Amino acid sequence: MAREIIEKKLADLPVVPNMVDYERTRAGFTWETAGTELEGLPVGRGLNIAHEAVDRHSHCPRRDHLALRWLGKQGEVRDFSYGDLVDLSSRFANVLKGLGVGKGDRIFTLCSRAPELYISALGTLKNLGVFCPLFSAFGPEPIQERLSIGEGRVLVTTEALYKRRKIEELRKSLPRLEHVLLIGTKGPSLPGTFSYHTLMAEASGHFEIPPTDPEDMALLHFTSGTTGRPKGAIHVHQAVIAHYVTGKYALDFHPEDIFWCTSDPGWVTGTSYGIIAPLTHGITSIVDEGEFDAERWYRILQNEKVTVWYTAPTAVRMMMKVGKDTARKFDYRNLRFIASVGEPLNPEAVFWGLEAFGLPIHDNWWQTETGGIMIANYPAMSIKPGSMGKPLPGIQAAIVHRYKDGTVEVIEEPDTQGDLALRPWWPSIFRGYLRDEKRYRDCFAGGWYITGDLARRDPEGYFWFIGRADDVIKSAGHLIGPFEVESALMEHPAVAEAGVIGKPDPVIGEMVKAYVSLKRGYGPSESLKMEILGFARTRLGPAVAPKEIEFRDSVPKTRSGKIMRRLLKARELGLPEGDISTLEGEE
Ligand code: AMP
Repeated sequence: MAREIIEKKLADLPVVPNMVDYERTRAGFTWETAGTELEGLPVGRGLNIAHEAVDRHSHCPRRDHLALRWLGKQGEVRDFSYGDLVDLSSRFANVLKGLGVGKGDRIFTLCSRAPELYISALGTLKNLGVFCPLFSAFGPEPIQERLSIGEGRVLVTTEALYKRRKIEELRKSLPRLEHVLLIGTKGPSLPGTFSYHTLMAEASGHFEIPPTDPEDMALLHFTSGTTGRPKGAIHVHQAVIAHYVTGKYALDFHPEDIFWCTSDPGWVTGTSYGIIAPLTHGITSIVDEGEFDAERWYRILQNEKVTVWYTAPTAVRMMMKVGKDTARKFDYRNLRFIASVGEPLNPEAVFWGLEAFGLPIHDNWWQTETGGIMIANYPAMSIKPGSMGKPLPGIQAAIVHRYKDGTVEVIEEPDTQGDLALRPWWPSIFRGYLRDEKRYRDCFAGGWYITGDLARRDPEGYFWFIGRADDVIKSAGHLIGPFEVESALMEHPAVAEAGVIGKPDPVIGEMVKAYVSLKRGYGPSESLKMEILGFARTRLGPAVAPKEIEFRDSVPKTRSGKIMRRLLKARELGLPEGDISTLEGEE
């Protein structure tokens, strides 16, 4: 329960928010009307994300406004106006066209937060390709798997990652991957690759976006389930209406805002809010290439005069560890609104924002499948610390019980735990998992989209996160499928079985922990543990690999052979083991 409510009064807010009265805005809201705030392609040729993000600002004074300020690790600064982005994204669209790449083709990126990533995303969307970002800390296996499922035709990456992630070798098993464009190489490219910069320099900066059906596929974001391969969630061009609306209400964008989304575009937040939403509002975004460093971040907030900041609980907890005195050394007079997403935000973190920055942190909730923010704490709405807030205008959320026969009962009784469900339709709801119709269909029941999260709603309509309904792990805000990790571990010659769980961690939320049983002839030892950890890290990359391994004689399984991760977790935490009647070897 909340310790106390943080009351909001309009008179105390530094600017009048876009939504002053939640209930009134909600009552008058329709997606149809919201869509009219976007421009659309000229003369009824449809709706295209890249047009709304950049081209529509090219024929007004916003053309010269700063769109992206990129801050390099070594202190370099590169500025891009809206006019620059129009030109560069058109060049990239022409590069793709010149390579014979067109509508529906999947363009993957694998790089750090480089300007070229943002330009590739926009250029891909102009050319009606599908943008699919990969996290640069993925190892060769997650990369191969996603490129294969997504049938990537083009990969934009750097020479260093091309070598380090063994892409040349992976290409042997990726016949569809025709073109690799390397950023940063100006001289002769590695065999079988192009220099991104050479192609861009030769391309024209004029590109007319072809007619775009609002339902044309635009973005492919991979996410993980408990079992099976990663799932490619499909989003379409009209998702941009939701990006725009959530930018307006949940992040409260105003024309002169300087916005910083700290999420990496390798994950959905970094695309929907690191690229698309702020550009549709014509505001300035900060992109920091560097990794987390509390002082560096405070300095960016101060020096770049950030007004709206969108970050994540793991980062907030890391700042809390450093202490508020460090935070207080800097000046945040421009900062107006702080929001956070991706994992539960502890009430302490909400209050810590008040102490460190003079502003509470506003939690909001969404997921890859929803394409945009669904439940949020808004600037003018009082905060109940620990709650995710209330559904966005245009979004109906409920706590439901899903029965085995597929029927769904809405739980009206407040403060009752159940499945968090959302009522379709909204523009950014995913349109499918690529080539995985069954898993897509399984997400819906009784006219509801069942999110896979457990939550409760209090009598005032605030939603409270309780946990995941499945065994998926959230580590440092990244969703990790245990099956993917277990499969990689099993490839090690000594490993007989592996069961992987998320072990609670005070900073990163959950840490990937593996329980491993060994094949006959192998005995547990510290050196074997280190070897298996290293093996997993090389294959999966640091973002996905386990941080801890424990040897067991056997890994608990059901009689049908499913690993009982819940039991592993209960034993890890010393919690009641629950129903173990299906456990193999138990009567
Ligand atoms: P992803 O699809 O990777 O964005 O992960 C979505 C999942 O992250 C959700 O289904 C939740 O389990 C979790 N999540 C996102 N936002 C929050 C939040 N504000 N509080 C608690 N969990 C969250």
